[in-house]
Amino acid sequence: MHLDCDVAVVGAGPAGSRTARDLARAGLRVRLLEEHRAIGVPSHCSGLISLRTLREAEIGEEAVLHRLTGAFVHTQEGGEVALGGSATQAVAIDRVAWDETLCQQAQAAGADLVRARMTRVERENHHVRLTAQTDGRDWTLTARMVVGADGTHSRVARTLGMPRPTEYAYNLGIEGRISPDARARWRDDYVHVFVGHDLAPGWFGWIIPTGEGPDGRGIVRVGIGTTGAVKPIVAYRRMAEAFPELFASLEPIRMYGGTIPLAFAPRSYGDHVLLVGDAAGQVKPFSGGGIYTSLVAARHAAISVREAFERDAFGAKSLVAYERRWKREIGRELSKSRHLRHFGLAMSGAQVERLVRALRSPGLQALTDRHADIDYPSKVLLRLARSLPALATLGAVTLRRPGAALNLVRAHLPI
Ligand SMILES: Cc1cc2nc3c(=O)[nH]c(=O)nc-3n(C[C@H](O)[C@H](O)[C@H](O)COP(=O)(O)OP(=O)(O)OC[C@H]3O[C@@H](n4cnc5c(N)ncnc54)[C@H](O)[C@@H]3O)c2cc1C
Repeated sequence: MHLDCDVAVVGAGPAGSRTARDLARAGLRVRLLEEHRAIGVPSHCSGLISLRTLREAEIGEEAVLHRLTGAFVHTQEGGEVALGGSATQAVAIDRVAWDETLCQQAQAAGADLVRARMTRVERENHHVRLTAQTDGRDWTLTARMVVGADGTHSRVARTLGMPRPTEYAYNLGIEGRISPDARARWRDDYVHVFVGHDLAPGWFGWIIPTGEGPDGRGIVRVGIGTTGAVKPIVAYRRMAEAFPELFASLEPIRMYGGTIPLAFAPRSYGDHVLLVGDAAGQVKPFSGGGIYTSLVAARHAAISVREAFERDAFGAKSLVAYERRWKREIGRELSKSRHLRHFGLAMSGAQVERLVRALRSPGLQALTDRHADIDYPSKVLLRLARSLPALATLGAVTLRRPGAALNLVRAHLPI
């Protein structure tokens, strides 16, 4: 039977464009469906990534707006610690340009970009049929396989009845300007992280400096999220009131919302289908960062799809290889981070304060500086947790919430 293409990739975000790029490079006929007219717009992301992510994407320094070398962690009770050094730990990128570049790479490799919203996908005999809409008109597309790279609320996953992630953070993001005075008071190469059960229940707040605007004022990306107990806008007001010295001069330019999955989907494959990126919940549960993980997963998705074509085997039994591959590379880290996050949530406010004070010790500062890695945070967190001052706090947490100890065991801590 004649099919319109080999693979239909739904969503031209990082996950979809990279999958489409790699598949087209392998000689497959790829259609990349994107519902928005402009790639990457509207952006719902703070665009903080590691240097490793630039290499994974095959994108150079041109996407980098600003370099960041550390973080101030602020607690709701007023505690503060500076972590980091002088080496670049992360960079802030122009997220729209980033998505455009990845999509251009896919097109240059031969993928066919189609402006359309996919509304339904059905399995038929040995292929899939997608229904899509362009300018209000329905049309259909047949393919041997579909890759759902259509973000957190994945329609591919939902219409095929695939199980969804069970935990989410709901966020409010603001891009804004700050006065030159305020900018001079901060370290412009440090992000700010705000934690506290009442401030941002289940999640955290942040400020990411992204450089200087044409008028000499600083540009920042600010945000806060919760896991549902409080609306993000309420949490934002609390954060701005609690830290007036940081927020008083903030002048918003643009506001946006966004939902982040904090656990991966129980299954990222099925007959004739793979899920990649946020659609599969492949996001770092400690920070909500998903650009690096979605690119890694997309690399494995393309390898597995190619293999399926070589073997002419598109059933779930064959495509399970994809899940094994991406889990081998990042699954362990994502699970560890998730357990460490849950352990952190079991700490009382006073325990968080004690831990932040302990982190000011020169020994722990050096350890953080040496091992910090935003893509693999469990490396430094587990080392910190094994250090003497932190062990006392950990012991106190497990006494307070015995169930929390299980998270430590699962994260492979020696307790
Ligand atoms: C507030 C916030 C801040 C964040 N900050 C960071 C950060 O600093 N660093 C980081 O690494 N990550 C961050 N993330 C996470 C990051 O944005 C995502 O993990 C990443 O975008 C995942 O890429 P993706 O390709 O899977 O999905 P997306 O980027 O969401 O792309 C999905 C694409 O699919 C398209 N689409 C959806 N449905 C359809 C359909 N039915 N038909 C056709 N097209 C469709 C969408 O238009 C979109 O282009 C943040 C997220 C939020 C919400």
